[in-house]
Amino acid sequence: MVSSPSQYGEKATYNNMILTMKKILKTIVPIVLAALVLAGGAGIWAWQTAARRDAVEGKLQLHFIDVGQADAALLILPTGERIMIDTGTKESGEAILSHLAKWNVGALDLVILSHNHDDHAGGLAVLADAMPVGGVLYAGEAPADCGVPMRAVSAGHSFAIGEVYFSILGPLSEAGEENRSMILRIDYGVRSFLFTGDAEAGEEELLLATAPTLLNADLLKVGHHGSATSSTETFLAAVSPEVAVISASADNDYGHPSPQTVSRLRALDCMVYRTDQSGTLVFLCDGTILSRYVS
Ligand SMILES: [Zn+2]
Repeated sequence: MVSSPSQYGEKATYNNMILTMKKILKTIVPIVLAALVLAGGAGIWAWQTAARRDAVEGKLQLHFIDVGQADAALLILPTGERIMIDTGTKESGEAILSHLAKWNVGALDLVILSHNHDDHAGGLAVLADAMPVGGVLYAGEAPADCGVPMRAVSAGHSFAIGEVYFSILGPLSEAGEENRSMILRIDYGVRSFLFTGDAEAGEEELLLATAPTLLNADLLKVGHHGSATSSTETFLAAVSPEVAVISASADNDYGHPSPQTVSRLRALDCMVYRTDQSGTLVFLCDGTILSRYVS
């Protein structure tokens, strides 16, 4: 379902802020008293933790972790399950672990790997060494064994966890590891989210020919770090996202994201967020409203 940008934009964010503030006010009195007793850092920490708990409770959380020139997203489902979509590079493992610790994630129920390139699957072993991981789903080439049960999935597979639905739309291409990226659609309530890994124009064309009505999504994790070889005008028009997230490092050697991709997104009235500019990005969805969470 596509909603007007204003539903997501300033008005929705403002309303959401007001609702959050009302909730915070309900808990602020006892917390301020506790802070007075505890004094100093511990009190402030308690306030921040309570405010965050209130804001995120019962919502689907989508965290796009700043892992430099790589992809790593954490999903926390309304029912509490924790899922990673891609795991960054081996070198970014520590940054992911520190983000997971900040959000009290001490185990992962599932890891979904878009494809077996270092900037997407490189951190898997780091995560598996640091915490229990329930299983790995992957498309294309199998990742190296890390002692976690793994299962290959392909276009047509789908599953649900609580009210969150996962549909694997691709890969449909057979050539090139980038184009063999998993295309993952997630639906929650009336909102949908599309993760395309590093899929490029060839895969996008096959998706448009095969599943055109399933591409429409409110949030798009932009393909291949915003490369000019992905995100064709036709593909972006079919997705028609309100929010686009590009995961890339500042001044990377590939020139990602490409200015053409960013302008194609902006031409759709889409809010473009970039980890190279904003750092880690967190979005919340209650099934109707999609908003950005800023701590
Ligand atoms: Zn990549």
